[in-house]
Amino acid sequence: MSIRNRAGQWEPLLLGIEPEHCGVCNQVLYRNTTMLKGGWERCSVCNRFVHYACLVSGKVQFLKRRPRVCLNCEHTLAKSAQ
Ligand SMILES: [Zn+2]
Ligand SMILES: [Zn+2]
Repeated sequence: MSIRNRAGQWEPLLLGIEPEHCGVCNQVLYRNTTMLKGGWERCSVCNRFVHYACLVSGKVQFLKRRPRVCLNCEHTLAKSAQ
């Protein structure tokens, strides 16, 4: 499937897998918007691709926690831990 902007200005994202939406904020993982924010990573819990900005931060804000955990899963894990 080819995703094309109506204006034909940018290339389709070459992610190559589904889903092409962020698992946290549900916005599309297009390269032109995502790269500015650091790209995307796969969450190690739900295996969904999320924006780098939608991952849980580690102790240092710009160094995300490893293994990668998205905000959704962090929420779920925090709940089940109670
Ligand atoms: Zn997101
Ligand atoms: Zn997740």
